[in-house]
Amino acid sequence: MIKIPALRLRAKLVLIFVAIKVLPLVLLAALAWSAAHRLGHALGQRAAVMADNMAGSIREVGDKATQDAIVALDDRSREAIERLTTDTALAVAAFLHERDRDLQAAALLEPNEAGYRNFLRHRTRDYYRHGEWKLKADGSGWEPAVPHSPDPASIARAGEALPDNAKSFHARPPEYRGERSERPLYLEMSFIGLDGQEKLRIVDGEVMRPGLRNVSRRENTFVRAETFWPELRRLRPGEIYVSEVIGAYVGSHVIGPYTPQAAEKAGIAFEPQKSAYAGTENPLGQRFRGIVRWAMPVVRSGRITGYVSLALDHDHLRQFTERILPTEARYTPIIDAIGGNYAFMWDHKSRAIAHPRDYMIVGYDPASGEQVPPWLDEELYGEWKASGQPWAEFSAGIKPFRDQSLKRRPAAAMLTAGMLGLDCRYLNFSPQCAGWNQLTEQGGSGSFEIFFTGLQKLTTAAAIPYYTGQYADSPRGFGFITIGANVDDFHRAATDSARQIGLTIEQKNEAFRKERQDMLQMVENSMQRMTVELASSTFVMVLLVIGIAFWMASFLAGHIGALVEGIRRFASGDRKQRFDVRSRDEMGDLARALNSMAETVDDSFLRSEEARQRAEDASRMKSDFLASVSHELRTPLNGILGFADLLAMDLKDVEQRDQALTIRNSGKHLLGVVNDLLDLAKIESGKMTVHAEPIDLPAFVADVVRGHRAHAAGKGLELLLDMARQGPLPVLESDALRLRQILNNLINNAIKYTDHGQVSVQLEAEGTDLVFQVRDTGCGIAAEDQEAIFDRFGGVGSKVQRDKGGSGLGLSLVRKLAGLLGGRVSLVSEPGRGSLFTLRIPLQPRADEGTLGDGAGPEPSGSDSDK
Ligand code: ADP
Repeated sequence: MIKIPALRLRAKLVLIFVAIKVLPLVLLAALAWSAAHRLGHALGQRAAVMADNMAGSIREVGDKATQDAIVALDDRSREAIERLTTDTALAVAAFLHERDRDLQAAALLEPNEAGYRNFLRHRTRDYYRHGEWKLKADGSGWEPAVPHSPDPASIARAGEALPDNAKSFHARPPEYRGERSERPLYLEMSFIGLDGQEKLRIVDGEVMRPGLRNVSRRENTFVRAETFWPELRRLRPGEIYVSEVIGAYVGSHVIGPYTPQAAEKAGIAFEPQKSAYAGTENPLGQRFRGIVRWAMPVVRSGRITGYVSLALDHDHLRQFTERILPTEARYTPIIDAIGGNYAFMWDHKSRAIAHPRDYMIVGYDPASGEQVPPWLDEELYGEWKASGQPWAEFSAGIKPFRDQSLKRRPAAAMLTAGMLGLDCRYLNFSPQCAGWNQLTEQGGSGSFEIFFTGLQKLTTAAAIPYYTGQYADSPRGFGFITIGANVDDFHRAATDSARQIGLTIEQKNEAFRKERQDMLQMVENSMQRMTVELASSTFVMVLLVIGIAFWMASFLAGHIGALVEGIRRFASGDRKQRFDVRSRDEMGDLARALNSMAETVDDSFLRSEEARQRAEDASRMKSDFLASVSHELRTPLNGILGFADLLAMDLKDVEQRDQALTIRNSGKHLLGVVNDLLDLAKIESGKMTVHAEPIDLPAFVADVVRGHRAHAAGKGLELLLDMARQGPLPVLESDALRLRQILNNLINNAIKYTDHGQVSVQLEAEGTDLVFQVRDTGCGIAAEDQEAIFDRFGGVGSKVQRDKGGSGLGLSLVRKLAGLLGGRVSLVSEPGRGSLFTLRIPLQPRADEGTLGDGAGPEPSGSDSDK
C-alpha cells in the first residue's frame, strides 16, 4: 500500500481529478502524437519505396526496350551494312569485268596512236574530289575551307506531299560525294611487241613517264615492280592477264590526324604534303597512285602479233570504297578514319589496296621495285630482323595469319620508319584479318564485331567475285571489301532514347525527390503544428480540469468546512446555530439533517437543562433543608447533652446515672451524625471551602491520635503512632481542620471495628505526597463491600456493625474531604484480619485545586466532629 500523507480534502480532490482526467488526457495526446508521427514517417517511407519501384520499373522497361531496340537496330544495321558490302563487292567485280570488255575491245583495235587515243577518249568515269581543306586555327586537326551544306530547296518538302504520300514522307537532298569531274579510266595504253618492247604507248604523264620501254625488263616497268612479261608470254589468244594493284608506297610517320603537334611528337618537320594522304586526317597528303594492268594477246590471222595493255587508274577502284559511309550519311566527299565508319578493299592476298589512310595501302619501293615490308607485330618484326633476310624472302617462308590477337603489339620501329602498309597475312596484332579471311576465302561474306582502336566495331567482309586471269585460281576472286562501322552509331537512336529515358527518369526522380521532400516537410510541419495544437489544447484542458477540480474541491471543502464550523459553533454553545440551506443536493440534505439534529439536541439540551435546574433546585432545597435541620437540631442537642451531663453528675443512683450517660452518648452520636450530614450537605451544595495553612505534622498527628487513646484503651486495644520512619517529615500545607476530620474518622472506625489487637497510624512522605496509613486488626471488609462503604449510608449492613453505632456517613465524608484536599483514600482489607485505609494528599496545594485556595469561599462551618 502506498502511504499517502495526510492531505486536505481539497488537495485530495485535485489529485484525484489530475489522476483520472489529466493523466489520460496527456496519455491520449502523447498517443495521438506518436501515432501521427509514425503515420507521417511510414507515409514518407512508403511513398519513397513506391516511387523507387516506379522509377525502377520505368528504368527496367526502358533498359529492356533500349536493349531490344539496340539488338534490333544492330541486326538491321548489320544486315544493311553486310548488304552494302556485298553490293560494293559486286559493283567492283562488275567494274573489273567491264575492264575485261575494254581490253577485249582494245585487242581488236589496230595498234596506232589515233585509234588508241580514240579508244581512250571514251573510256572515262566520274571522279569525285573533296574541296579544299585547311588546318584548324588551333592546329588540332583539319577542316573544310568551305563547309558544304545541302541547298534546302533541293530537298523535297514533306508538307507538299499528296495526302496519300504524306505518311512518313522522308526526303533527302542530292547525295554529295564531292566535286565531280570526268577522268580517264586508264593511265596507260600500250602495244607491246613479242620481244617485250613497247611499240605504241599513250600515257598520263602525271603518273607515268612517257616513252617506249622494254617491259620484259622489270626496271622498265611501273615503279620497277611489274613482272607481267613472263605471264604475257604464256597467254593464249583470248586469255587475259590482270595484275595486282601496283604503286609506289607512300609512308607516314604519323598515325591519326597529321597536325603540327603530331609531327613534333613523331620528331619530323610539319610537312603534310610529304606524308601520305589520309582523308580528314591529312587531306593535303601525298596520294598513293597505282595501277591495275590488264593485258592480252593481239591476234591477227590466228597469230599473236603482240600484246595490248591497259593500266587502270587505281583511283577509280578506290572510288568504290572511298565515298561510302555505313551510316545515315551514306556518302562522304572525304573519308574519315577517326569515326571508325569507313570501307576498304583488300586484294586476293589480303593486302590493303584501298584505305582511308594511303600509308596503309601496300606499295613498292620505286627504287628497288620490291614491296615495302608491311606493318608487323613486335614478335614477327623481331623474327624478321633477326633473320637478316630481305622481306620478300623472309615472308615466303612464314605462315600467314599466325596467332593473330588483340594482345599483340604493333612493331614501334616500323611506325618510326613509316612503314605501315597493311598486309593482313602478317598483321598479327589485328585479328580481324583472320576473320575477314575466314569469311571470304571461299567467296562468301559476313560480319563480326570487334573492339579495335577504342571502338566497338562491326566489321563486314564480302569477296569480290571477279575471276579473270590469276584471280580465277582463288574462290575469293579479286579480293574483298570490308566495311568498318562504329556499332554505337547504329543504335544511336536507341541509345539516344535510352539516354532520354534515363534523363526523364532522373528528372522524374529529382521531381519526386523534391515532392517527397516537400511531403516530408509538410508532414513535419503538420506534425509540428499538431504537436503545438495538441500540447496547447492539452495544456488548456489540463488547466481547465485543474481549475474545475479546484473549484469543485473548494466548493465541497467550503461546504464541509461551513458545516464543520457550524457544528463546532453549536458544540461550543451557540445552540441557535443553524445552516442556511439553499441547495437541494446531498450537501443540502446533510445541512438539513444537521439542522434537525441540532433542533433535537437543542431540545433535549433544554429539557436536561430544565431537569438539572430542577434537580439542583431540589438538591439545594435538600441541602438547605439538611443544613437548617442540622442547625436546628444542634441547638436542642447541645441542650440535651449539657443537661444529660449535669444529670449524670447529679444523679447518685448508678442505674439512673447510666441512663443519663446513655442519653448523653446517644445525643453525642446524634450530634456527630448531624455534623456529618451538615458537612456532606455543604460539600454537595458546593459551600464547603478549604483553607490551606502550614501544619506542624508531628504535633498535629500526635494531637489527633491522643484524642483516641481513651477510646482505644477502653477497648483494650493498642494504639500506635509511627511517624517518619525515613527521617524528618516535611511541612504539609493543607486544611488542618478537614485533615483532622478525615483522620478522626479513619482512626475512630479502626478502633470501632477492632475488638482485639491494635490500631496503628503511620505517616510518611512519598515524593510530593504525604501518605497516612490507618491499620487495624479488626473484622475487615469483604471485597464486594469495599466500594460500597464509601457511599453515603454505605455501612455494610451487618448486625455487628450496626451494633457499633455507625451511621454510614463517615467514609462518604472522608472520601469527599480527601477530594477537597486534592488527595484520595484507598482501602486494602481482608475479612477477619483487618483493614488498611490509606490517605494520600499533596504536600502543597495544587494550583488547579480551585477549592483549596486561601479561603475565597465562605468560612468553614467550623463543625468539628470529635466523636
Ligand atoms: P459507621 O458510622 O457505620 O461507621 P462509616 O461510613 O464510618 O459508617 O463506615 C461504614 C461502614 O464501613 C461501617 O458500618 C462498617 O461496617 C465499615 N467499616 C468502617 N471502618 C471499618 C473498619 N476499620 N473495620 C471494619 N469495618 C469498617
